[in-house]
Amino acid sequence: MSLFTHSEFDAHEQVAFRHDADSGLRAIIAVHNTRLGRALGGCRMWPYASEEAALTDALRLSRGMTYKAALAGLPQGGGKSVIIGDPRHDKTPELMRAMGRFVNSFGGLYVVAEDSGTSVADMRLMAEVTPHVGGLADPESDAEGRSGDPSPATALGVFIGIRAAVRHALGRDDLTGLRVAIQGVGNVGYRLARHLYEAGAQLTVCDLHHATVERCITDFGAMTLPMDVIHAADVDVFAPCALGAGLNDRTIPQIRAKIVAGAANNQLARPQHDHMLQARGILYAPDYVINAGGIIDIFYEGPNYDTAVVQAHLRRIGDTLTEIFGRSKREGRPTGEIADLMAQAIFRR
Ligand code: NAD
Repeated sequence: MSLFTHSEFDAHEQVAFRHDADSGLRAIIAVHNTRLGRALGGCRMWPYASEEAALTDALRLSRGMTYKAALAGLPQGGGKSVIIGDPRHDKTPELMRAMGRFVNSFGGLYVVAEDSGTSVADMRLMAEVTPHVGGLADPESDAEGRSGDPSPATALGVFIGIRAAVRHALGRDDLTGLRVAIQGVGNVGYRLARHLYEAGAQLTVCDLHHATVERCITDFGAMTLPMDVIHAADVDVFAPCALGAGLNDRTIPQIRAKIVAGAANNQLARPQHDHMLQARGILYAPDYVINAGGIIDIFYEGPNYDTAVVQAHLRRIGDTLTEIFGRSKREGRPTGEIADLMAQAIFRR
């Protein structure tokens, strides 16, 4: 297994491996870049098919966090951690505390938060042994936005991003009658649906879970489509809010929307799919720019949390996207490429 020559290595500052015999922990922490500040990134627990796959995931995800933080205007860097194991069977409090001690060994250079396979409860266990934990629920508060759940802020950020994309591509500010297809109406997708519904949009949704779809029909009068065709819906905006890699060789030729803008991470199956979208005249809102609401929210968490300050910061997602769209048009380059260049100019300066 290579490291310095790994295809995803990309000048990572530090990569550490930890084995804890007592708890059975096998984990990797990757810190990509801390030039803007300490590295914040989630801890993913997954039954990786191989150690190589776990390393690749850690490197790719931590790099992505650097880019996300830079364009979100946050004074922090990018990092990520992975635990090799099945969260349904292998998770124990001792394992989480062992992970917390691993995080602590970075002395604050890496701040952990929840991700796929880990929860706020796991973060609390880690917080017993390290202060370097973000995204912890505030037990004193049940207000959305300061509860430790980043989804409301992510959804608002995506809504603001869709507004910016609609203004750029369709030349309109009023969303009344805007047709939007949302793929996945879970924590973020459902809240995004509510914002869009309140702005007068017409929704088409799909989800793996029937009850989740039913809720959107009842609450927002949404229409539904099967999961395998939602990307081809006859709409203005396609909003991927489920899993990654939904924009690929098969789906892109079938997309009828003028705009692709949603919350899902790693929407492009491969970087060159950005070019395919551009060639088809589809405006793509780079995923890590439009879905940065969650890390913006986590940045402000704490006793001085101020909703107005967070919302003002979330509105900057729209400004950043407008800048990316404008530059993409002027330079004839895809939006994802422009976003990467803008992020690099920030974290490498
Ligand atoms: P979630 O698990 O609550 O919701 C995802 C929904 O998608 C679920 O309801 C699931 O049933 C559905 N789904 C899964 N596969 C599907 C498919 N093939 N077709 C249709 N629906 C499908 O997750 P979430 O927190 O809402 O996050 C959604 C996406 O946004 C993920 O890619 C996540 O990585 C990304 N994201 C989330 C946040 C956040 O704050 N939660 C922040 C940044 C990015």
